[in-house]
Amino acid sequence: MCPVQMARRCTANLRERNPLCTAFIQSGVAAGIPETEDFNGASQEGIGFYHTTTRNARRCSAARAFLHPAAKRPNLRVLTRATADRLTFDGKRATRGVLDRDGCKIIVRARCEVVVASGCVGLPKLLLLSGIGPAAHLADMGIPVVHDLPGVGENLQDHYGAILNYRSRLPLTVNDILVSKIKMLKAGLQYILTRRGPLTISAAQVGAFARSHPGAAAPDVQFLFQTFSHDEYDAGLHKFSGFANVVCPVRPQSRGYLRLRSADPRAMPVMQPNYLSADYDRRVLVDGVKLARRVAAVGPITDHIVEEFAPGSGVTSDDEILAYCRETGLSIAHQVGTCKMGTDPMAVVGPDLRVHGIAGLRVVDASIMPALISGNTNAPTIMIAEKAADMIRGAA
Ligand SMILES: Cc1cc2nc3c(=O)[nH]c(=O)nc-3n(C[C@H](O)[C@H](O)[C@H](O)COP(=O)(O)OP(=O)(O)OC[C@H]3O[C@@H](n4cnc5c(N)ncnc54)[C@H](O)[C@@H]3O)c2cc1C
Repeated sequence: MCPVQMARRCTANLRERNPLCTAFIQSGVAAGIPETEDFNGASQEGIGFYHTTTRNARRCSAARAFLHPAAKRPNLRVLTRATADRLTFDGKRATRGVLDRDGCKIIVRARCEVVVASGCVGLPKLLLLSGIGPAAHLADMGIPVVHDLPGVGENLQDHYGAILNYRSRLPLTVNDILVSKIKMLKAGLQYILTRRGPLTISAAQVGAFARSHPGAAAPDVQFLFQTFSHDEYDAGLHKFSGFANVVCPVRPQSRGYLRLRSADPRAMPVMQPNYLSADYDRRVLVDGVKLARRVAAVGPITDHIVEEFAPGSGVTSDDEILAYCRETGLSIAHQVGTCKMGTDPMAVVGPDLRVHGIAGLRVVDASIMPALISGNTNAPTIMIAEKAADMIRGAA
């Protein structure tokens, strides 16, 4: 089943109609954003509930949806707790993978081709460790060059968001559940007994794709409305009733890069996302924050808001808003582009996802996206894998 079909089929049980969500949608409509039932339909523009890749009230990972049903096939062997250290080559043909499992090295030999899918961070790292990448960087790391491919690790993109945090008038938020053992127990029991309730929600239940200003040719900002509030990702939720709207430009122009720190496969790579380095991204983010404030100032959501406590009423000018975004913004974790598909000198893979200049090596993950898409990246990555499966089987 295609991810969008899967999402459509599985979204119904997620629509826990938290009054905050419906109020936010109505306020968006009052602010001029059309209501939508389906961001993947005829028009992306609108405000409404997100579809999610969920089955039986649980997040349905790609492994659960695609790998587990194939687990018994005789031609499939899954090796967990193993890390690919590098690939090795016969000339310019990829022939083996060197894996590390609990300190033991395992060599995996490819009969036809090697398909790698270690993601936007892991994939360029693996290629660089294997000697495929910018020759000067490989020389700096002391790695012999198998193929000089300047685009490996370049073109890093991500969605970068600013959080607008609101203090809520009523205790309707996830914050309120997490401060009460009784409410947590009730939510747990509700989930176990009915597969409903707050434990079935995705982080952002409601969102919008909207134009940050009337002249925008297409929706250029996304809202991710959350029935909880927090500062840092790992700081936990606020101890008071709160909700948030995260705002991000959907087609950022800023580009960063990923490089090796050392030739040790255990070492984390260096990532430089260069968020907000492009003037366009700064303008769209600031305009997006202003649009989010207009939504929060009209319609039923106003009844729920005690105050916008971050950035807060003291932050009004464009410069102040931008400074707030720079200081407190966060990655939406939609990294793409570090092994981009294309035919230009900075492309890493061709339209058939084969690595330029190397035989028998294909990349199938989000790193091949040449540019960030207007939306979340999980379903499009599954689509890339579906298309790649067809190409590998010779069906496309
Ligand atoms: C916290 C978080 C929340 C997100 N929420 C959403 C969301 O709500 N909706 C949405 O659409 N997208 C979301 N995303 C983005 C989405 O998960 C990614 O776009 C998608 O998973 C990318 O798929 P991928 O196959 O390219 O990479 P991954 O899913 O990252 O898969 C790569 C895999 O390779 C493994 N790996 C890496 N290096 C090696 C190695 N050397 N050896 C062996 N294995 C290796 C990694 O551990 C990982 O399991 C989220 C991402 C994060 C991090």
